[in-house]
Amino acid sequence: MNEKDMGTDLEKVLISKEEIDAKLAELAAEIDKDYAGKDLLIVGVLKGAVMVMADLARALSTPVTMDWMAVSSYGAGTKSSGVVRILKDLDTDIAGKHVLIVEDIIDSGLTLSWLLSNLTSRGPASLRVCTLLRKPEAAKVAIDVTYVGFDIPNEFVVGYGLDYAEKYRNLPFVGTLAPHVYGG
Ligand code: 5GP
Ligand code: MG
Ligand code: MG
Repeated sequence: MNEKDMGTDLEKVLISKEEIDAKLAELAAEIDKDYAGKDLLIVGVLKGAVMVMADLARALSTPVTMDWMAVSSYGAGTKSSGVVRILKDLDTDIAGKHVLIVEDIIDSGLTLSWLLSNLTSRGPASLRVCTLLRKPEAAKVAIDVTYVGFDIPNEFVVGYGLDYAEKYRNLPFVGTLAPHVYGG
């Protein structure tokens, strides 16, 4: 799916595919350096982090294992419910492992904060976070995020894994939607 297929739904492209690729290469180089000689498990948070996981994992030189979790924090709309539920847990026991959570976006930080305490209780050797996007103005809890792709304004974005009512995940870029899409 590209810009032309979106018709009038797209308002603007915020971060292009080229910018995403370049940023992931930078983050991968840092991660390679930080985890040299260690076994690393990267954990993708479904479904939004699918694209970041796929591209980041291939940009890494460090051999990694990959696992996935699905948690619910948002319904079909654009507002946080504040309630986190595990829809799919890890297949892996993370006790004693170096774990890196890979996220699409940190908005209020509530989901991630909950996930961090949940995974910490399982006794990993280390636990860090990598996110492609972060909205500093939306933060409700302070979270230490080691690898951040882009800090973005407090706007609802779609693309590159991020959806609005399950649509637009397959856009290769990150963009904002025209108000008429939300019924505005
Ligand atoms: P938080 O708990 O940090 O508020 O939100 C985390 C989750 O909410 C993200 O993983 C993502 O699924 C969803 N989310 C937050 N902000 C946005 C946004 O701007 N666009 C989309 N599509 N999803 C978002
Ligand atoms: Mg996410
Ligand atoms: Mg969503």
